[in-house]
Amino acid sequence: MAFFTAYIGTIIFVFGAVIGSFLNVLIYRLPIGMDFKKGNSICPNCEHQLYWKDLFPLFSWIFLGGKCRYCKAPISKQYPIVEALNGTFYVLAYIFLCGGEGVEGLSLKLAGYMIFFSCLIVVSWVDFKHQIIPDSMWIAILVGGLFIVGDALITGEFNKDWIIARVIGFFAVSGLFLLIGLVTRGRAMGGGDIKLIAAVGFALGWKAVLISLFMSALFGVFFTIGRKILVKTEMKGLIPFGPFLAMGSAVCAFCGEWIFNSYMSLF
Ligand SMILES: [Zn+2]
Repeated sequence: MAFFTAYIGTIIFVFGAVIGSFLNVLIYRLPIGMDFKKGNSICPNCEHQLYWKDLFPLFSWIFLGGKCRYCKAPISKQYPIVEALNGTFYVLAYIFLCGGEGVEGLSLKLAGYMIFFSCLIVVSWVDFKHQIIPDSMWIAILVGGLFIVGDALITGEFNKDWIIARVIGFFAVSGLFLLIGLVTRGRAMGGGDIKLIAAVGFALGWKAVLISLFMSALFGVFFTIGRKILVKTEMKGLIPFGPFLAMGSAVCAFCGEWIFNSYMSLF
């Protein structure tokens, strides 16, 4: 059984890496409003068309030594990192969130979490580079949440409290963000952050999304301090909060509810 689970886990990782290369296309094309369905992939430096042997997830980058086959310009590390990260999250979701017992872990719930993690990866990169969170991403996270609800309906996990926790999750942190946005006239909190955390709250429930807010803030603080020490220059403008929200949400999908319950049991 363990062997079979490892076998399926490997297939899931490869599948995640393939989807990861598609995420790289989204990260590049979504912010500039380019149609992600049309056109062939090209090298951004020499504009040479790329073929299947150049586009093999992870392996192409490794075998080409991180350089374009045609003009030898360096290819961003973003490509293999996104592919590996997406594959890793898919496997972690299969094992820790969906039971990971052979084919039993292959559920609607797994599909929901796959969408969830992939969108968070895209949001992190796009918001960090361009300070925007594309609407398609939080909508897709909501759809992922609906997949998780569908799975609960099938398995009988679904009940009144379960769905109420998700509806509260949708409004809990997003309501707070909306308030901060109104008070600061949109300077401290953008509309994208509000919509993103509402969708995450629906997918994870109010306990996990509350913890992800604290974790995002912590990541933000660590990043700011780390950057000050390493770069020693003042940050220009506001640091987008989206990447930290995405990171906090990804981590809390695994342990948010557990942290919440552990904390509450202290009292
Ligand atoms: Zn090139």
